Amino acid sequence: MADLERHNVTGPLGGLDEWEDDLRRRYPSPAEVLEADKSSMPRAFRDYRAETRPQVKEFYRLHHRHQTVDFVRAKRDEYLSGLPGCSPAGGETAATDRGPRRQMGIWEALEFLNTLVDDSDPDTSLAQIEHCLQTAEAIRDDGRPRWFILTGLIHDLGKILCLFGEPQWAVVGDTFPVGCAWSDAIVFQEFLAENADAGVPDYQTRCGIYAAGCGLDNVLMTWGHDEYLYHVVRDYLPREALYMIRYHSFYPGHREGAYAHLMNDADRQYFPWVKAFSPYDLYTKSAERPDVAALRPYYEDLVAEFFPPTLVW
Ligand code: FE
Ligand code: FE
Repeated sequence: MADLERHNVTGPLGGLDEWEDDLRRRYPSPAEVLEADKSSMPRAFRDYRAETRPQVKEFYRLHHRHQTVDFVRAKRDEYLSGLPGCSPAGGETAATDRGPRRQMGIWEALEFLNTLVDDSDPDTSLAQIEHCLQTAEAIRDDGRPRWFILTGLIHDLGKILCLFGEPQWAVVGDTFPVGCAWSDAIVFQEFLAENADAGVPDYQTRCGIYAAGCGLDNVLMTWGHDEYLYHVVRDYLPREALYMIRYHSFYPGHREGAYAHLMNDADRQYFPWVKAFSPYDLYTKSAERPDVAALRPYYEDLVAEFFPPTLVW
């Protein structure tokens, strides 16, 4: 593609990878847990919070301070109005100052995402496209259906929000509902004291602005790459895939079991797919770099099976 300009991300993290590396520290793989249990330092005595790097803490502080109901509504208006078939929930459609929507195919969006440059350790940080391919290849190795493999390939494409100028805390980070009481299962929950919604009594009850059991589709989640990509691809993939995309960063929900009181039957039916996807996302990072050129024809075919040549972004 023409636009091969390199882009840096704005925020305290050396790169988006750093949030995901931190997630792996918080949620080690079953194999790592076994290994740690055999070592001299039992895992139970390790303190995730004390071991969290200062730049990751600062990232969560900013995330938790700025992800308010008003912020989420504004971002939904900005990014979702103008997508085919989308009307942003929770507010009337405002005129967007982003100009005409960008039209890109899936592979083109992957290459666009790949122009993001991470400043974190270059030996361990993979290009964005490599994480997408490693995730997809692990799913393929397990003999999963084609839509599942495709979901692995595209699940992080929403991170192109960074390339539209969004700060790190509006692109990545654990997601959770806004407009109701924050769960204790949210990482660094104490930073939410700095969130303006802490002073809005209507947002501080268990269900807040929602009805119990209303379903997550009716709940405003913190804004980031998951929710954005869900709206871009929602017409083209099976519902299982859409749940994986939309909620893969909702660790308080799919790992900690929080917010069950807002879920409905559909959420309960499809959340096992979010859980099934998570290990591929978290634990398939390897130093062995995928051969992008060799894999491309297979994935171009797979993309063409589900998607039109271009999508509105
Ligand atoms: Fe992600
Ligand atoms: Fe990912």
